[in-house]
Amino acid sequence: MSRVMLIGAGGVAGVAAAKMAQNPETFGELLIASRTEARCKAIKADIEARPWYAAKGTATKITTAQIDAMDVPRLTALIQEYKPDLVMNIALPYQDLAIMDACLAAGVSYLDTANYEPPEEAHFEYSWQWAYRERFEKAGLTAILGCGFDPGVTQVFSAYAQKHYFDEIHTLDILDCNGGDHGYPFATNFNPEINIREVSAKGSYWVADPAADKPEVAVENKKAFDKGWWVETAPMAIKRVYNFDQVGEKDMYLLHHEELESLGCNLKGIKRIRFFMTFGQSYLTHLKCLENVGMTRIDPIDFKGQKIVPIEFLKALLPDPATLGPRTKGKTNIGCIFEGVKDGKLVRYYVYNVCDHQECYAEVGSQAISYTTGVPAMIGAKCFLEGKWTAKGVHTCEEFDPDPFMAELNVQGLPWKESFDPVMVP
Ligand code: NDP
Repeated sequence: MSRVMLIGAGGVAGVAAAKMAQNPETFGELLIASRTEARCKAIKADIEARPWYAAKGTATKITTAQIDAMDVPRLTALIQEYKPDLVMNIALPYQDLAIMDACLAAGVSYLDTANYEPPEEAHFEYSWQWAYRERFEKAGLTAILGCGFDPGVTQVFSAYAQKHYFDEIHTLDILDCNGGDHGYPFATNFNPEINIREVSAKGSYWVADPAADKPEVAVENKKAFDKGWWVETAPMAIKRVYNFDQVGEKDMYLLHHEELESLGCNLKGIKRIRFFMTFGQSYLTHLKCLENVGMTRIDPIDFKGQKIVPIEFLKALLPDPATLGPRTKGKTNIGCIFEGVKDGKLVRYYVYNVCDHQECYAEVGSQAISYTTGVPAMIGAKCFLEGKWTAKGVHTCEEFDPDPFMAELNVQGLPWKESFDPVMVP
């Protein structure tokens, strides 16, 4: 039995903690530590009141603590005192590097669900965390990056496709559809600040050869990096309509997304990777209005003699994603469509999960976005603690054996479906 320290007490952390407590044979002890300890205690109380808690005759022993994860010396001391086998960072991407520093200082492995992003710049990329590779390797420690659904499961799906069905994958489209409705005119399903920064940024997709790519909108920029090219577009400039299994037809828009960068490095023969997310018209209209009046700005402004950051103020006004569970109805459908070759023949393959908001709420008290992120975080931790994902150093999810993770998805609440005749995205 292992001992895990979980940092953060929001919507995703609550699900990850609940799913760990459903697997007490692996997760013997759990410390939930976050900035506001009352929220850790609320998660503990909720789990201990669930009918499945301790139903297997053994129960995860849950304790709580207050910690500001940016305080590396205090965090290091807390890790040294608790002596976990793994630290899971399910706070915010801003804390990634501080928690990785504390893990190195305390000699403990690390897992997170989103890659580092500096607070003062709405921009995420792996370079900051990949810079820790040598230090984790030398210390004999593992860091698993981006182990949610997307990033996370989308990369496990890619490794699975590559291992079982393709000699080479040429194109990959990641489709993230939320067909759920929470009844508010505008709310975000995970941390509002991170969500709005992500969707209001320029769109971009990854290509191996920009000369071979013919985008249908004016490309403002084609930027080379060490493994491929980014083709940048204005925000939400590329729109497609897709008919999702069990959800129906939805508008989806091309976004920049973190896993494109690592998959561009790790998929053999890959030529193009795109990421699409569905948005309803009400969400887009509200977002445009908020942008137009400056409410999504991330730089400090003066307000009555005080400095405030508009997007932080907006976050305080919006519904807390952790409270959307009882109101949200409908399903999510997230998956990957691949095209490539096997034994010289064209292969098309679609693998996806459909998740029901109300079923998640009945099981762990959360909506499906937190659920589809928290469950994979628990599975990644389980694979590590059970010795199935053991590579030392800093790794993204496609760098590990996908088979044990894929098997766990089916038994831990996120079963997947596959098709060899998918409708392709134009
Ligand atoms: P929430 O905003 O609901 O929760 C964040 C939690 O982190 C809060 O409990 C907050 O504390 C805590 N926190 C913030 N700063 C600190 C700090 N300095 N020290 C300690 N704790 C801190 O976020 P979500 O649960 O919605 O998201 C969690 C993570 O999951 C994010 O990184 C998000 O980007 C990621 N994510 C990943 C997805 C994927 O598929 N890979 C999908 C969705 C989300 P307090 O309670 O005091 O505010």
